[in-house]
Amino acid sequence: MNRREFCRVSFKSAAAVAALSAAPLRGVATQAGTSGVKDILAVNLSGETTVLGAAAVKELAGSLHGRVITVSDRDYNQARRIWNRMIDRRPALIVRCAGAADVQRAVSFSREHELLLAVRGGGHSFAGYSMCNGGVVLDLSALYGVRVDPANRSAQVAGGSWIGDLDWEAQQYDLATPMGRVSNTGVGGLTLGGGYGRLSRLYGLACDNLISADLITADATLRHVSATENPELFWAIRGGGGNFGVVTYFDYRLHPVGPQVLAGTLTYGSNQLRAVLEHYAEFAPHAPRELTLDLSVVSDGDGVRTPYIMFCFAGNTRDGEALLRSLRSATRPGSDDVKARDYVDVQREGDGPVLSDRAVYSTAGYVRELTPELVNAVIHEPGNVALLLMGGAISDTAPSETAFAHRGGGFLLQLSTEWQEASENERRRAEAQGSWDRLSRFTQGFYTNLTNADQKSIDDNFGPNRARLMQIKKQFDSGNLFRMNANIVPAP
Ligand SMILES: Cc1cc2nc3c(=O)[nH]c(=O)nc-3n(C[C@H](O)[C@H](O)[C@H](O)COP(=O)(O)OP(=O)(O)OC[C@H]3O[C@@H](n4cnc5c(N)ncnc54)[C@H](O)[C@@H]3O)c2cc1C
Repeated sequence: MNRREFCRVSFKSAAAVAALSAAPLRGVATQAGTSGVKDILAVNLSGETTVLGAAAVKELAGSLHGRVITVSDRDYNQARRIWNRMIDRRPALIVRCAGAADVQRAVSFSREHELLLAVRGGGHSFAGYSMCNGGVVLDLSALYGVRVDPANRSAQVAGGSWIGDLDWEAQQYDLATPMGRVSNTGVGGLTLGGGYGRLSRLYGLACDNLISADLITADATLRHVSATENPELFWAIRGGGGNFGVVTYFDYRLHPVGPQVLAGTLTYGSNQLRAVLEHYAEFAPHAPRELTLDLSVVSDGDGVRTPYIMFCFAGNTRDGEALLRSLRSATRPGSDDVKARDYVDVQREGDGPVLSDRAVYSTAGYVRELTPELVNAVIHEPGNVALLLMGGAISDTAPSETAFAHRGGGFLLQLSTEWQEASENERRRAEAQGSWDRLSRFTQGFYTNLTNADQKSIDDNFGPNRARLMQIKKQFDSGNLFRMNANIVPAP
């Protein structure tokens, strides 16, 4: 059995195990009876309402190893929830796939019926790309599982896995690859959009560590993509998001990590905000690549703004301690909990509920340096602002080497805000957009994974890679079936 075959078997069994345990969010659960299915009103690719016949839905359900969930199923409301509570959409069908064959059937079905299609990996898109109104949701939540090959330092990871699935398995061998900083978020959207985390300055983005992937394109063909097989597609999926198909498995390069890293948070008083920002502006650009730093400014309800620095050093502990001493003595945190910890624990520390109970707005763009003007703007902006240090290995890859073009170093400036009541959605979103209008003048390009952007800025964002991406889109998805993403419109 070769590696790819092994992988498919282990993923299938992961889905089967999940089905047995009937995990509410990650299992296939039982095959629903479809006898009660009626004709369903759905939305097509032109945005028009169409009728989806009951016979077609039953035929689809009967052809799957997973299941179809419709409004008549008891778990429909749970199945249509994604992480961001602000996203409240009602798809016509949710196809919970148990393997690559189900993905192929769901893609064929959507294309033949010309239905709006969303692909749900972990479901953490801030913009809600993984859920649609009236269309089909191709749900990969049951498709999770990881196989580590320690000798080759690689890991095969099913397309609906969470970051923590990979971290955990790889750390059994003191290995890891750059992933995001919250372990119960999806690997799928993260990797396809870039993927920044605690190891990125040392080993690059998640997409930079992709060796190959199994990609099901709009014609429902399963294509193995790598530097030597379908290289154009392989180039495009490393930063081009879910525009080119559905990844049923990723093959990542792993690196020696930990098992312990020097990590924690330095906490300051609100009266230290300016001093901490100014020191960060000087200190961070000289940090070695083993060091990941994020400065967050968090607002409480009364307008008090408190800075925090997240510190994570994944190299020699003595070197990390020297850097920490220097940062502590220059900034004098009120408290800090930086110490040697297991990498998997650090990755889990920020985990929240799998489905957030809050509506969240986030947007993020790249800034070259923390100028005094930007520091002032951050101090006076009311929302939560984070300044994530980029550079290091992220900048080792040229902007045209993968579809992900933002390799210039500097910082990722993120604005985020969250709230409880749905009635506040419009007001809070408008406020956040107003904040971003003021901050975005400092940015050049944005990070699709943390942003809900309009089409014009999406087009601009791919910069020099845009034309090539549009040609590849035309070749593999001329009908723009995969459009619930930072959409690359096919070349004319
Ligand atoms: C709490 C939280 C923390 C985060 N932290 C980080 C961080 O540290 N670093 C960072 O870089 N980003 C971070 N993000 C952003 C995150 O990377 C994106 O939200 C990403 O889209 C999540 O992937 P997902 O599979 O859960 O997304 P989904 O919502 O499922 O999908 C997002 C997009 O990717 C597509 N997609 C997902 N899986 C596949 C697949 N297998 N094949 C084809 N298309 C697919 C979807 O169609 C959709 O267009 C964070 C997000 C949250 C909510």
